[in-house]
Amino acid sequence: MHARPERNPAIARLNDHFLKLSAGYLFPEIGRRVGAFIEANPGAAERIIKLGIGDVTEPLPAACREAMKSAVDDLGEKASFRGYGPEQGYGFLREKIAEHDFQSRGCDVSADEIFVSDGSKCDCANILDVLGSGNRVAVTDPVYPVYVDTNVMAGNTGPAAHGGGYEGITYLPLTKENGFEAEIPTQRLDVVYLCFPNNPTGAVASRKHLAAWVAYAKEHDALLLFDAAYEAFVQDDALPRSIYEIPGADTCAIEFRSFSKNAGFTGTRCAFTVCPRGVMATDADGRKHALHGLWNRRQSTKFNGVSYVVQRAAEAVYSPEGREQCRGLVAFYMENARILREKLSAAGIAVHGGVHAPYLWLETPGDASSWDYFDRLLHGAHVVGTPGAGFGRAGEGYFRLSAFNSRENVEEAIRRIETMTAA
Ligand SMILES: *Cc1c(COP(=O)(O)O)cnc(C)c1O
Repeated sequence: MHARPERNPAIARLNDHFLKLSAGYLFPEIGRRVGAFIEANPGAAERIIKLGIGDVTEPLPAACREAMKSAVDDLGEKASFRGYGPEQGYGFLREKIAEHDFQSRGCDVSADEIFVSDGSKCDCANILDVLGSGNRVAVTDPVYPVYVDTNVMAGNTGPAAHGGGYEGITYLPLTKENGFEAEIPTQRLDVVYLCFPNNPTGAVASRKHLAAWVAYAKEHDALLLFDAAYEAFVQDDALPRSIYEIPGADTCAIEFRSFSKNAGFTGTRCAFTVCPRGVMATDADGRKHALHGLWNRRQSTKFNGVSYVVQRAAEAVYSPEGREQCRGLVAFYMENARILREKLSAAGIAVHGGVHAPYLWLETPGDASSWDYFDRLLHGAHVVGTPGAGFGRAGEGYFRLSAFNSRENVEEAIRRIETMTAA
């Protein structure tokens, strides 16, 4: 037996790719700056309004709570008790999803192509299990950091590059010049992450833009990973809510959906992935295989399903009362977004987003960098937002505000920003 090297007494080897991760910079840095400000200004702590969070603030809809309570009672009776459920989710939920979210909009998605999970964040990460190494992966810039960091962990990238980003990932800039829709690349890519309505820019995709991506994917045999966590916030019924509204997408796209934002399930946890049977990927010999079977295998092996109680709560989202209550939640946040948009625009700030998404993407006034503007808002208005540069290089010069807050906080934050901007 070989002795282990002396200078390395630890037995287990770690995943070296984790060491490439830049140390979760954004939110810790925000916390550090807020902490330092409070220390220097005791008493300011209660005044601070956080418009940086991507978490909902309104309580769970009554229809969902009632469904949960009655599901708890089901578990208390021998006749209706449930143990392990199907790894893919209960039929009662998958059927409702297929009907209401897809078939009602003309998308040919069936219940057995829907995989219920405990979150879109995990699904976006777990999908890499069924994809091999060596794929040319593209993300937008700015980007929801989960897509990038999970590719780093999986070993699909090189080290962190100078000036931001990782080697080996293709970044597609989202700017006001391109209307926050990435230019369709000319080079070949294998996997492309898209998120519409977008976090962080708040932009929504036109049908034409999604159709261009589907055409690209079909031409280059690329896989689109479409994150539609904010679809419920789309206000114009003519805009697509699902990638499957584009003909042909059912052969090249996987879609991620979540109950977190439309029904306030960020703490309750329920989401789903749509993997149509026609979506293929190639093996080492170039033979095509359907990802549906592999994803099913992955879920059955590594996952034991979402709790029965939570799936009953998610099912209630599709009841007449549940739909009405979720519409009310979305309308509440979108009214916050409208107020923020109108008042900040009137104060002379250039605002993007916030029409079909609960995020506003501000241009920082003058030459202020994202972090300069963060400090100005914190010190001058006691308002905390998120610097655009934290979502990627192309986010420099932008600033994200979230509409997830109470009306009172939103109005007070606006008053303070107006006063600060006028000064
Ligand atoms: C909030 C959010 C999700 C949802 O994640 P869950 O794990 O389902 O709560 C997914 N994608 C984006 C971009 C989000 O902002």
